[in-house]
Amino acid sequence: MTLLYMDDRFQHHRTGDHPECPERLRAIQARLSGSDLLSQVKRIDVCTATDEDVLRIHGSDYLRTLRSFADEGGGRIEADTVMSEDSARIAWLAAGSAVDAVSRVVQGEDTQALCLLRPPGHHALPDSAMGFCLLNNVAIAARTAVERLGLDRVLIVDWDVHHGNGTQDVFYEDERVTFFSAHRFPFYPGSGRSTETGRGKGLGTTFNLPLAFGISRQDYLKRFAAVLENAAEKARPDLVLISAGFDAHVEDPIGSLGLEASDFETLTVLVQQVAATHAQGRLVSLLEGGYNVERLAECVEVHLRQLASAVRWYGRFTGEIFAFLSSQGRDLVVDERDLTTRIDCFWHNALQSAPSCSIREILMAACCYLPGEILPALWW
Ligand SMILES: [Zn+2]
Repeated sequence: MTLLYMDDRFQHHRTGDHPECPERLRAIQARLSGSDLLSQVKRIDVCTATDEDVLRIHGSDYLRTLRSFADEGGGRIEADTVMSEDSARIAWLAAGSAVDAVSRVVQGEDTQALCLLRPPGHHALPDSAMGFCLLNNVAIAARTAVERLGLDRVLIVDWDVHHGNGTQDVFYEDERVTFFSAHRFPFYPGSGRSTETGRGKGLGTTFNLPLAFGISRQDYLKRFAAVLENAAEKARPDLVLISAGFDAHVEDPIGSLGLEASDFETLTVLVQQVAATHAQGRLVSLLEGGYNVERLAECVEVHLRQLASAVRWYGRFTGEIFAFLSSQGRDLVVDERDLTTRIDCFWHNALQSAPSCSIREILMAACCYLPGEILPALWW
């Protein structure tokens, strides 16, 4: 089951008359509560980040500024970014949930998680707020994954309509975290040219796909898939994170790159394929933008439905195989790495061909990819 972080407290970050408003999450919660999805996910309590984790990205002076600004009642901390008296506390709750999701996924509790949090994070810089963002949730989660949880490589996929300049800046010289952003260009915040590819040790680990307003949906998806594949091949990540903004939707009032809600299913599948091929399916998605509240709620439902439908197969299938092998003393398979590759290959193809086919059909297809002697154990 996909892990889901969703909590009323994220609405306590009050922004007044502002596109990044509590109603965004209220609409998502109402939509998901009215669907069948909440019975297909595992709800996890949100939790506050430790300063140790936040300091992996942000400076201590900046953390003090955020807290004292909130304590004094809040206001406009940056041209586009508003805080209320609770906003610092909620920002730490958002970052903490991102870190907790990554920790649980890395420790194997489940392969996928979705954090429906705010404030968003991908514009936030180490020492300043920017573009509705206070703490850079995805950057904090990625760096915690490599520095505290011991992963070698992480891939961040950012499909928010705006370039994730804060995340890019943080990892521009860091070869352990690959950053791929597809975004409208020219547009806010002005960065994200394809020539921005990293620096020093990080050279070649930043992938930017600037897209002109008016691009067709087909071209968007085709170009996204191609650059994502390059980034994934280069990164060979142990974990994939998504900066999941939904403001590329055609009806978004401040973004829009012409996408429909169903296109976010395609984007989700593409990233799931990367996670399955390289990272044992490990995927954590964090909400960023999306400002037409009704369309945002619809897109989040599409995204979560795809996460929830696919993980049933992957988690159960992989778990069954390894449980069977350990019950047999693993004598059946000469090379465990070879088996892992076969499972990944199988899963990649199953997802591509029929993400919603029956378990029996999937296992029939598995015959092509898995050693024949372990298949009988899977016909439960
Ligand atoms: Zn955005």
